[in-house]
Amino acid sequence: MNALALILALFAPAHPALKPSIQYTLRVDSADLSGWTVEIRLRTTSETIRLAMAAHPEYDDRYWRYVRDFASETPGASVTRVDSAVWQIVAPVGVVTVRYRIALPPAEPGLRAAWRPFLTPTGGLIGGPHGFMYAIGAEDSSVLVTLELPPSWAIATGLTPTRDPHTFIAANAAALVDSPILAGLLRRWSFVEGAATHHVVYWPLPDAKPFDTVAFVSGIRTMVHQTIALFGRAPYRDYTFQFEDGAFGGGLEHRNSVTLGASSADLARDARAVIPETAHEFFHTWNLLAIKPIEYHEIDYRTQPPVASLWFSEGLTMFYADLLQRRAGIPVRDSTRTAHLERLIGSYLANPAYGRFSAESISRVAYNVDPGELGDYSASTHLQGELIGTMLDLMIRDVTHGQRSMDDVMRLLFNQASPRSPSPEGRGGQGVRIDARVIEQAVESVCGCDVTPFFDAHVRHAAMIDFDRYLGLMGMTTRVTWGPAMYNGEPERDLRMWGFESARDSSLRLVVNNPASIWGKAGLHSRDRLHGINGAPVRSWPELRAKLQALRLGDTVRVQVQRPAGPFETTVVVARFERPTVRLERLPNATVAQRRLAEAATF
Ligand SMILES: [Zn+2]
Repeated sequence: MNALALILALFAPAHPALKPSIQYTLRVDSADLSGWTVEIRLRTTSETIRLAMAAHPEYDDRYWRYVRDFASETPGASVTRVDSAVWQIVAPVGVVTVRYRIALPPAEPGLRAAWRPFLTPTGGLIGGPHGFMYAIGAEDSSVLVTLELPPSWAIATGLTPTRDPHTFIAANAAALVDSPILAGLLRRWSFVEGAATHHVVYWPLPDAKPFDTVAFVSGIRTMVHQTIALFGRAPYRDYTFQFEDGAFGGGLEHRNSVTLGASSADLARDARAVIPETAHEFFHTWNLLAIKPIEYHEIDYRTQPPVASLWFSEGLTMFYADLLQRRAGIPVRDSTRTAHLERLIGSYLANPAYGRFSAESISRVAYNVDPGELGDYSASTHLQGELIGTMLDLMIRDVTHGQRSMDDVMRLLFNQASPRSPSPEGRGGQGVRIDARVIEQAVESVCGCDVTPFFDAHVRHAAMIDFDRYLGLMGMTTRVTWGPAMYNGEPERDLRMWGFESARDSSLRLVVNNPASIWGKAGLHSRDRLHGINGAPVRSWPELRAKLQALRLGDTVRVQVQRPAGPFETTVVVARFERPTVRLERLPNATVAQRRLAEAATF
């Protein structure tokens, strides 16, 4: 390191000046695990300050609903709630102390979602977007967080440690709310990959089943190794995997941590059971959090705006979660890449939504809207995006004679989003944000080809993908056969309708997945308010699901719904339905170059 580099490093934004003007104390009392208290000490420069609960861009659990006893003990301070998620304090300039409690909502039936907070006598998940308010206008200030927990509890979090094991630093408000804290009786392993330390932490239930922890940790490590190998470097210095027993197998990605459900019973059956989900959430550290959509606000208490490029952030994450597990030699659900593609193309062709809605419009409704936003269609931005990514990968490999691939696009976007040596105008890691144009330009600069017609057709508009055209580049073609949908060897009933309880008026509303389903053909529409089935009232989705599951082929169902225009009743006869099966076949006249491309692309 030369002298200039040393001086720059001393002032680099990665080393924030350690002078927090905001201090948090989060306290868990083992005698009362119904929630926790937070105390915030602020050094103010104005008489009016506002504190807010941030909205998560994807999973906005609206925990402002569970804030209790918000108060300030500072003499002369007055407190008002000015918005559902915002509190205002007027107090003399100086040190102001504010206190509130998060009263956890009652546990939901079934397994817990891994990203939602909880408390038990042996540990819990606290803080993060569900726990900490941030000071509006002071979003860039670093903060100090002290945890007062039951003495036997260990702490695992993405927050920066200090010499005091109970005190942490967050470089800014966004890092504070994006770093949930798993605490309790934890098991812990660590390894170094890409010059960064990775902590694997497991919180077991008291009656947890034993599992092969060596295979568990080595599976995660090989996946981490492959991901860092793809991008060339990690966007963090240390990373924490927060695995929780007793939660279902979903997860939520954060800038340098991830919360994941990992039941010990599942791990006892297969120590690598959680790798697929882990690979997906871990890949988001680059593709979503570092390579960030242009629409995302850094931190906001208002619902985040719709994001048009989620087909890329989610779809390419699906693409790589599968691919990187294969590169790591980890067995995956579909035995080969070809089998994987066959299954994806089959789901795509089964769903007319992809010929009606562009990738951008399906992206925009993926989060933060009630179901039924696409009318009588349901679509997956994950599936659509993964197939778009796969076709782009084939085009790049073909045009560059196998010299380049989607890997180069991901690396390029990462280097643009998070430059190695930040330019003066890109200080603080504020690199390029993505939208369709930025992604398109990255692909074009990698392949040296024109992909505008492809982006126009499938990203900005709703043309169905002509798979044979792109698979033909590797000497392959699809054989599609339609036949009765089967499940466990039996013809499947057409249950392509479901329900949800609207957050607005708690009524039960229908979602018709496909207008060609028996439900759509009978005149039912998404967001119809369900009144009753066969004359009996149905009030919740579990109740409706039980009624749907009890139906047999040939049964007659009377469905009564309520619409703004008035009541509507229809009769549905339960029938089977057709589904496509897709096989990929080698073209008889495939060239050697095409065969080579197929080998490389379907690794
Ligand atoms: Zn995802």
